[in-house]
Amino acid sequence: MILIVDDSPQNIISLRKVLEKNGFQVDTAASGEEALKKVLKKSYVLIILDVQMPGMDGFEVAETITGYSKAKDTAIIFLSAASTDIKFIRQGYSSGGLDYITKPVDMHILLLKVKTFYRIYEQSRELNEMQKALLEEIEYRKEAEKKKDEFISIASHELKTPLTSVKGYLQLLERSIDKGDIAVVKNRLFKVQDQLEKLNVLVADLLDISKIESGKLKFNKKYFSVDDLLHNIIDVMQQSNNDFKINLIGAVGEQVFGDEMRIEQVIVNFITNAIKYSPGTDEILIKVEICDNNLYIGVKDFGIGMAKEHQDKVFNKFYRVEETSLRFQGLGIGLYICAEIIERHNGTIGVKSKLGDGSEFYFKIPLHPTQDENL
Ligand code: ADP
Repeated sequence: MILIVDDSPQNIISLRKVLEKNGFQVDTAASGEEALKKVLKKSYVLIILDVQMPGMDGFEVAETITGYSKAKDTAIIFLSAASTDIKFIRQGYSSGGLDYITKPVDMHILLLKVKTFYRIYEQSRELNEMQKALLEEIEYRKEAEKKKDEFISIASHELKTPLTSVKGYLQLLERSIDKGDIAVVKNRLFKVQDQLEKLNVLVADLLDISKIESGKLKFNKKYFSVDDLLHNIIDVMQQSNNDFKINLIGAVGEQVFGDEMRIEQVIVNFITNAIKYSPGTDEILIKVEICDNNLYIGVKDFGIGMAKEHQDKVFNKFYRVEETSLRFQGLGIGLYICAEIIERHNGTIGVKSKLGDGSEFYFKIPLHPTQDENL
């Protein structure tokens, strides 16, 4: 928008007419004071400013505008008497563009100048936008690079821990075999298996991540019994976590369409986290129900919980709650993989949680295939 500042109503009318006829939006002010008020409220591309006005003159107005951050890109065309020295005009304004036209105004020249200023304004706006987008992209890439480095270092550490344990247990195992102590041999074999299972899960998660990145995470969907699946999962997890009572609440009673192994992966992940992030407690609840043709499964714990600000972010890749990340080992990829699996079942995933009171991680998926899925 252009602001015309002139104490002569006649000048304003004729300038306004020409500019509006050429498609420009125009605002007007009859004095310097009025112009300053308007500049504070609105953004103008260009101000056409009469130099000789009673009260504040054009130079004073321009000088004041220089201090307004809102008007830093606003250009000014002074309308001056032919005798005015241009050097003097330049002192009055140090930002935006600047030009002058002598009175009586030649409308053709004025229009040419207005169009030029508009073109420059548009170009500089586009350049600013491009620069902003580039800076954002650079920041994003730097952040991604940093996260990747952190991930590699944590991943190597996470892989090394069970490997070192396996190595240690194998050495101890050798000694127990030499001594012929079968009970100890069995116990150590169990520990080796446990550590190898941890390694297996880690490597599988890392592979899943790379499959998600390359769009190659495949699903094998068919109807399966969620009730059977839940009983199996609870049996297995209960055995390896004697300290916890895993209770199932509810039943489905019908077959559900999905990739059974992937749904199992999500539930196991929720339960593993529920146990991991609930030291000092001894109960996990698994809630299952059908609501509005959707299967709902929630895993509730009474552990550390988390503050509101983390609740959406925990499903992001590599996100871990910083306050507790040193206390609990992890890579921050399990829930990201779960979110991808549930999204690929056209479902929703979420968490209800309160810091210090525990969490309920849940997902909902449609019971039956949606239109775009073939049986
Ligand atoms: P990891 O457990 O390996 O860090 P996840 O992706 O499974 O990775 O979880 C991401 C983060 O979400 C965890 O680091 C933890 O901060 C938080 N979190 C997950 N489950 C729970 C839970 N049951 N209670 C509290 N915090 C949890």
